[in-house]
Amino acid sequence: MKTDVPLQSRLSDRIDAARDDLVALTQDLIRIPTLNPPGDNYLEICEFLARRLKGTGFEVDFIRATGTPGDSERYPRWNLIARREGTQAGQCVHFNSHTDVVEVGAGWTKDPFGGEVEDGKVYGRGACDMKGGLAASIIAAEAFVAEHPDFAGSIEISATTDEETGGFGGVAYLAEEGRYAHVDHVIIPEPLQKDRICLGHRGVWWGEIETHGEIAHGSMPFLGDCAVRHMGAVLSEMEEKLFPALAEKRTAMPVVPEGARQSTLNINSFHGGLDEPDADFTGWPSACVPDSARMVIDRRYLMEETRDEVVGEIEAVLNHLSETRPNFRYDLRELWSVSPTMTDEDAPVVTTVSKAIREVLGKDPEFVVSPGTYDQKHIDRIGKLKNCIAYGPGLLELAHKPDEYVGIDDMIHSAKVMGLVLIDLLAPAPNPE
Ligand SMILES: [Zn+2]
Repeated sequence: MKTDVPLQSRLSDRIDAARDDLVALTQDLIRIPTLNPPGDNYLEICEFLARRLKGTGFEVDFIRATGTPGDSERYPRWNLIARREGTQAGQCVHFNSHTDVVEVGAGWTKDPFGGEVEDGKVYGRGACDMKGGLAASIIAAEAFVAEHPDFAGSIEISATTDEETGGFGGVAYLAEEGRYAHVDHVIIPEPLQKDRICLGHRGVWWGEIETHGEIAHGSMPFLGDCAVRHMGAVLSEMEEKLFPALAEKRTAMPVVPEGARQSTLNINSFHGGLDEPDADFTGWPSACVPDSARMVIDRRYLMEETRDEVVGEIEAVLNHLSETRPNFRYDLRELWSVSPTMTDEDAPVVTTVSKAIREVLGKDPEFVVSPGTYDQKHIDRIGKLKNCIAYGPGLLELAHKPDEYVGIDDMIHSAKVMGLVLIDLLAPAPNPE
């Protein structure tokens, strides 16, 4: 295409002109309720995206993650990869968005699946996390292809399941299938804000602690051994020693918010004693000394720590009690473990997105790390690709909340950043002759 107007300005104008299309696309995506659990309408949203992207020259591939957690005939785990080839060899830029959204919850003043537009915002469950980011990446890719069809390399847009429940039927499955082997750059448009680049996330270690006791009549507790009291001893040991020690462990990772720039521990659940039955009679548990108590803990850890150290700290608490507390017996089970991941600040995708943010927004990007995990872990660990970031419109604080929304201007700005990234990586300036 021969023209005096530079490609960058033409792309920017085209994205501005696509504003109504961007809003309508975001609304359409919100109106497909892809609640997870259980994993509703995954095929419907893939079919919707396939129709859209085939219309602009993408080839689409439907991939069902058969046999992964939650996959069933009623709730099949369908993923989509759409791919547009350029006309010459080059690099592959891959945008990955999860299509699932979390439960609606209480407190909405808007229809959670209505896609209402008000004051420059699109409302709905998944608006910022992350259908707005998915829509922005589609508009960016379409605008780039329209302005520069003779590009080098390829563009991929994947729409994947189950990020909110670990990503096993989504990105993890695709990575195991080798779907990232040829990919050079990954951008995950999670809502980290349009002027921030998210380099990675903290690690996760979930474990279940069970204390054991001995059942007896509740009127004569001295004849048994109360597992809940043993668990109480675990809790006080944690309060006295472990929580203060974790608060001392600070990280060089730029985690936001600031409060998460350290090791943290949450107690996700606590169960002890016999079940309280839904009985017509009293609904009370029977008068027994509990012989088992269980607690699920959620430990978030840092680049400066290892999984073995994290587990070792918990074992130290439990072993100390074994030595000092009569009849203390426990089991410790690992439920889930994810290493921290962080891309280097000079990785190619980071420098390219940084440059684009400076051009679109006139400011330097802020480098951040997410307190919680997202699909980057699978791309790093299984896909063996470090050159991956999260970058997208919306405010993380709104994710999973009532009246979730995404700003339309934010989506436009992010789409322009993504479009410039495509120019930079797939349409390098020709050599002067
Ligand atoms: Zn998300």
